Amino acid sequence: MNTGIQTDILDKITAFLSREHSHLINGKIAVSSGTKKLSILDPSNGKEIAQTPIADKNDVEAAVNSAHIAFKDGRWSGLRPADRERILLKFADLVERDADLIAHIETLEQGKSIMISRHVEVGGSIEFIRFAAGLATKLYGRTMDLSPPPGMKFTAFTRREPIGVVAAIAPWNFPMAIALWKVIPALAAGCTVVLKPSESTPLTALWLAELALEAGVPDGVFNVITGDGATSGDALVRSPLVSKISFTGSTVTGKSIGKIAMDRMARVTLELGGKNPAIILKDADIDAAVQGIVMGAFLNNGQVCAAASRIYIESEVFDKFAAAMEGVIKGMSVGPGLDPSNQINPLVSQTHQNRVQNYLDDASSKGAELISGKDGPDKNGFYISPTLVINPNTNLNLFREEVFGPLLGLTRVANAQEAISKANDTQYGLAASLWTSDLKATMDIVPQLEAGTVWVNTHVPLDANMPFGGYKQSGIGREFGPNWVENFTEEKSVCISH
Ligand code: NAD
Repeated sequence: MNTGIQTDILDKITAFLSREHSHLINGKIAVSSGTKKLSILDPSNGKEIAQTPIADKNDVEAAVNSAHIAFKDGRWSGLRPADRERILLKFADLVERDADLIAHIETLEQGKSIMISRHVEVGGSIEFIRFAAGLATKLYGRTMDLSPPPGMKFTAFTRREPIGVVAAIAPWNFPMAIALWKVIPALAAGCTVVLKPSESTPLTALWLAELALEAGVPDGVFNVITGDGATSGDALVRSPLVSKISFTGSTVTGKSIGKIAMDRMARVTLELGGKNPAIILKDADIDAAVQGIVMGAFLNNGQVCAAASRIYIESEVFDKFAAAMEGVIKGMSVGPGLDPSNQINPLVSQTHQNRVQNYLDDASSKGAELISGKDGPDKNGFYISPTLVINPNTNLNLFREEVFGPLLGLTRVANAQEAISKANDTQYGLAASLWTSDLKATMDIVPQLEAGTVWVNTHVPLDANMPFGGYKQSGIGREFGPNWVENFTEEKSVCISH
């Protein structure tokens, strides 16, 4: 398979994978106190590519202590904001230098297309890092006019102060990008970090932490522990020295972390699941809508929190839209992510493959109309064929729950009002899209959609300058945008009598 990668980079990847991996604590590869290991598999064939340790309580304590000491002694928060910005921009340059290597590791451990690894995960991350790095010098307070008793004079202002040690917990769907969406703004604010990547995809995080050291981030400021949720993640969120938890993952895990955080009032940002609707009105450009929904639904094999999964189509254009979608999914090539010509790649793990298959089996047993594309080429790979569910019944589990796979429900609706009410009939509220050429309909419908992001005539683009997060059970808080770094600060009011 021609992946277009240079031999010297392949040699570096081979050397990296064959290392004895461990946590990165206080600037060094640590000897893990936890003796259990995770097997990291190539999802395209199920073969082991590396092992990483499961951090136990002692490992977690060592990482958090390292971050705590580094925060308290001011080796990072005490730097001039311009110096933090410069070091983080240098980090972005190093990620750019190693882009092909990181993209390759990402595809090997996650399964996604090398094109997505190169252009979305690594290429996109470089832009997000630079945006967040620039916010280090753009933390603002306010001055306030107060109303003291007559005869007194007060001057008041607010300042933003870094919050302390941040626990950054990332999922497996965009392992690199999502980890950096937490780590970089936290560092820009002057915080120190312990990152726990997903148990399925910890490898790029280890490479990134070493690049941060090379860029000049001091020892102890950015630590990584590898491990699972039940042991390592749980110990991290319970650590009393962690001031802020920034979590992206499932709603179930997010809720349990939120409860633990509340017990000691640790600050928390939760970016959780979605069951995102798209509404196709009869005046939409149907060809463009089909192309856009293919991207919005099948990017990264549907393993995208903001993926379109419930499509509501006005009756007049339903048959045309459904026929075009059927043609597209039946023509999709299915195979390993390292071959850039494959449009559908394996899911991240066998556990997840089984989970998605269970949704399909449940739908089949209840008589759902399923239309599937090609099968994966390797029975040992974690493939699921791209599948349409035509007019899914609301009693199907795949219709109500987040599936996180290449499945898409197409539902015929009588009019826009029915579409809006069905679109909002969910516990989730992460994202939605509307497809129409009618400006008035757009402006009427956008405020009615219960979602943190609404796209019009597109579905799924994110931008570092556009806030992202969920309504309802899709989370608490927003990432990105000009206020991104404030997530990692406390606001202090200062009142001076003079
Ligand atoms: P998950 O909740 O199973 O795990 C996410 C992370 O939390 C992993 O690192 C895991 O090890 C850790 N974890 C699990 N249990 C824990 C516990 N008890 N304490 C501490 N940490 C724990 O999610 P996943 O399956 O890895 O990722 C897929 C989910 O992520 C989907 O629901 C998806 O919608 C969501 N997601 C949301 C966004 C967003 O921005 N809203 C983005 C990407 C993914």
